[in-house]
This record gives sequence, structure tokens and C-alpha cells, in this order.
Amino acid sequence: MVEASKFLFERACSSCDCSTLIHPWTQKCSDATFSMLFNCIKGSYKFYAMVYIIQILMKGKKLTRKEMIEQFKLYLKSGIFGLTVGSSFVTLNCIFRKLFFSQFSYYTTVLLPCTISGLAVYFEPPHRRILVSNLFTNLVFEYGIRTAQFKGWLRLSAGRETLLFMLGSALFFYLMRLDRDNVKRTPLFWFFTPPRVSKEEGKPVEGIHGRSEACPHKGPCMNYIAKGAAQLFSVGLLMTCVRTILPRILTPKKALKSLKFSHLKLGIFFGGYIGLYRLIVCLLCRSTGKDSALHALPAGFVAGAAFRASPSLPIALAPVTSSLQIIISWAYQRGMIPAQWPLVELLYCVCQGILFHARVMHEDVCPRYIVNLMHTVTTNKADEIQSAFIKKIVAFGN
Ligand SMILES: [Zn+2]
Ligand SMILES: [Zn+2]
Repeated sequence: MVEASKFLFERACSSCDCSTLIHPWTQKCSDATFSMLFNCIKGSYKFYAMVYIIQILMKGKKLTRKEMIEQFKLYLKSGIFGLTVGSSFVTLNCIFRKLFFSQFSYYTTVLLPCTISGLAVYFEPPHRRILVSNLFTNLVFEYGIRTAQFKGWLRLSAGRETLLFMLGSALFFYLMRLDRDNVKRTPLFWFFTPPRVSKEEGKPVEGIHGRSEACPHKGPCMNYIAKGAAQLFSVGLLMTCVRTILPRILTPKKALKSLKFSHLKLGIFFGGYIGLYRLIVCLLCRSTGKDSALHALPAGFVAGAAFRASPSLPIALAPVTSSLQIIISWAYQRGMIPAQWPLVELLYCVCQGILFHARVMHEDVCPRYIVNLMHTVTTNKADEIQSAFIKKIVAFGN
């Protein structure tokens, strides 16, 4: 893969017309704007259809008619956000080049327009803005670690990623339990939300039957643990199926043949994660006769070991990012950050600029999620633009 350094990029591309660099499929800037818009309408709604299906699956319960309509309205808004970001890249570049800059430069070609187009996040309602900012911050961390690995400054094995996830989970579950009693809880998207700390107290319980009075759930502990594990195991399995079987739905025989043990890995991770967490919390409640937010520390740590079944860098980092989110939301509530500061939106803009810049200039270390996101939302147009960049740089090198 070609790495576009500042030097190479500016030597090879700075004097190009916008039609050869930014919209190689057509000469006219207005045509480029329309074709980009058309592709992004298609791509954005396709992308968000998948996002919303996964989100509804993760909630693990049936939606009422009212909730369905609510979700559909959110889906329409998210689509506008996606298509605005996707389609504005070309137009902003054509305008910038005509008005302000006579040449393309390393920072003003992707970083600047994509930071500005991040303002489209205002199409999303506030709670979703927080979720997207969390996701993009996490991706920037991933990009940082990938860059460090690429340069040889850091080595992350699956074992180390697991340890990171275990430590992160311990902290995150603890903060989530502390935040449960908060009236202004920050929206989080996670496998499951731990229950409120139970105020009941009782005597220590021995054996495995029944429940302790301190347990933060109803019914016997074993049922509670098994139910959670089974539920999330099926979500994991379902998500794997959507990824591997749906694309082959037209050849059901081949689809079935392609099933392997490895397809259970995601289910084992999800199911094991909640199962272990609940098991440890119940054991602690039963042996001490009291519930406490602190139980989440050992429980989250042990549960994190299930991650070893299906390790991935973005998920390994996610609990740390979400812990930061809770801490920042507390800082807002305590007035340490003025309420009128649009920190979430600005953070999103900066992250989007950095990540889209990485997609074009440093494809090797760019998070896969961003590559797929841009490919899907622009219906392949991002890849066309990318190859025009690369061609220019390769041609210059020869
Ligand atoms: Zn143009
Ligand atoms: Zn229990």
C-alpha cells in the first residue's frame, strides 16, 4: 500500500485540477456534486439500515409499534447526517480550491474539509451525537495504536489486548454502576447495562440454590446467569450469521457448508462476558450478604477474559473510551465544563477530520471500520478518489 507523506503528496498532487484528483469520473464540478450526492443517498441509507438492525438486535427485546416509528425517524435523520458528510467532501474541495487555495496541500485537501463537514453531526439528536463521538474517539485511539505498531514502537498481542480489555471492563462496569443512580445518565452503547446497586442486605448464603437477599436481580442466581449468557450468546451468533450467511443467501447449500466452529467465537465472547460478570457479582453478594458498586471491579475484570475468544483492537479499547465518556459527563454535570460548550460536536469534527485524512493518506494504519464506512456510504466513490490519489503518487515516484 502506498503511504502518502506530506512531501510526496504535495510534490505529486498539489498542482492537479480538482477534476483529476477529486472527481476523476467527470470533468465538471457540478456533475461531480450530483453524482456524489446520488451515491451517498443510496450508500448512507444502506449503511444505517445495518447499524439500526444491529442496535435493535443488541437491545434484545421486541419493539412496540411506537418504538418502531421512533427508530425509523432516527434512521431517517442518521441517513441525512451520513449523506451530508459523504457528499460534501467533493464539493467543499472544488469550492476551496477555487476560492482560497490555488493548490492542493497535505492538510487542506482532506483534513480541513472533513473536519468542517463533521458539523453535519448536528442532524443527529444530542444523545446519538454522544454515541458517535464515542465511536470516533475510540477509532482515533485505534489509529494511534496502529500507527505506533507500524512504526515499531509498540507490540500488541491478543493476550495483551485481552488484558487491556479486562482492566478496561473492570473500570467501566464500576463507573457504570456508580452512574446508574444519576438522573442525567450519559447514553452508552454496550453489551449490557449492569443493574442498580441493590440496597437490600441479608445473611451470607451457601450452596448454589436460590438467591441472596442482596442480589440485584429477581429469581434464582443460576437462572439469572444462564439467561444472560444464553441471550448474548444468541446475539453473537446472530451477528455472525448476518455477516457470513446473508451475503450467500442465494446459495443456501454453500452458506451452510461455510459454517465452522469459528463462527461460535463471537457468541462465546458475548455469552461468556455477561455470564462471568453476573456469576462473580452473585458470588460476592451471596458471600457478603451485601451488594456494592465495588463488586463490579473484580466481576468486570474476570468477565473481560471472555474477550480472548474473539479479540479485536477496537473492542479492546472501547471500555477505556466509554469510561472517559462517563468521567467527562460527570465533569459537565458538576460544572467543571461549561454546559454551553459544544465539546461533543467539536470532538466529533476533529476525530472525523483525522480519520478521513488517515483513510486517504495512510491507508495501512487506518481502522478497517473507517475504510468500510467510507466505501459503503459513498457507494464506492471514496475508493475511486483514493485510487486517483495513489496513481498520482506512484506516477510521481517512477
Ligand atoms: Zn471540481
Ligand atoms: Zn444472584
